[in-house]
Amino acid sequence: MNVTRTTPPRPLDVTALFPQLAPLARPAIRLHPRPGSPSPHDSSVGGPLLWPADEPWPHCDDESHGAVADEWNEGPIAMVPVAQLYVRDVPLLRPPGQADLLQVLWCPFEHEPDYKPPTVMFWRSATEVTDILAAPPEPSAVEYDGYIPRPCVLAPEQITEYPNPMDLSKELQQQLRDWSNWQAAGSVVDSSWAPYPDSFYDSHLSVAPGWKVGGWPPWGLTDPIARFCAACGAGMVPLLTIASNEWDSSNGGWAPHEDQHLAALPRADVANPPEVQVSKGNHLQLYVCPESPDHPHTSLIQ
Ligand SMILES: [Zn+2]
Ligand SMILES: [Zn+2]
Repeated sequence: MNVTRTTPPRPLDVTALFPQLAPLARPAIRLHPRPGSPSPHDSSVGGPLLWPADEPWPHCDDESHGAVADEWNEGPIAMVPVAQLYVRDVPLLRPPGQADLLQVLWCPFEHEPDYKPPTVMFWRSATEVTDILAAPPEPSAVEYDGYIPRPCVLAPEQITEYPNPMDLSKELQQQLRDWSNWQAAGSVVDSSWAPYPDSFYDSHLSVAPGWKVGGWPPWGLTDPIARFCAACGAGMVPLLTIASNEWDSSNGGWAPHEDQHLAALPRADVANPPEVQVSKGNHLQLYVCPESPDHPHTSLIQ
């Protein structure tokens, strides 16, 4: 870790206005990926993995690559490191057994039927990896460059999130839409929000943008879609959000203190240090089963 990023305090304590939100608070760890030279012993986005030299590198042999990359693609595509997270840096992770390291890779192609890159997850014990694979294979083709993350170090920061408005009860949604309920906050909430104060909640008080572990899902592309474990039927929980930016003009208040000068620039590129573009500007949410880390994960584009 050689960077620090600090989310500015929220403009107000939303639970003081809406006490029903208090039990819905969830911790999230914002990852704040920033360009750097991570080693296999660091948490990273797009960095080198602590991968055992004697373990086969994961490849994707789905047939759908051919249509996009027919010239080069004669066989399986080497999967690409997306994130490596040590539990010491991201203590919200719940590893199985003695594992203390999570590795996430994807195939750099959007697969049918839902046009998302398939992901694989590996849990490891770092001390068991003594001989590290020095030169992992690289993919012979990619859908587009946004699926090759630029190597970034992380500045994990724990924050508190509240649900996206669409994840709330109809009653609470109605209360958030009632401007009179916001009067107690005084001038903190500008009266220009009066016609739609729930949008103020959505943009500034609920879900943090950008790469994160845990927290609440960033809905928007669709209404909330509940995820259920294929092995045991349990409701799945958000593990990792892979984002196509960390802030934009609607939520610049989430830009860390250290990046406020960048957030003031009229440039979108500075808000996306890993240069990842999932499904051309959306997010990929990975979900896991709360009952067992051995049950298969799932993913969703938002
Ligand atoms: Zn593939
Ligand atoms: Zn399960």
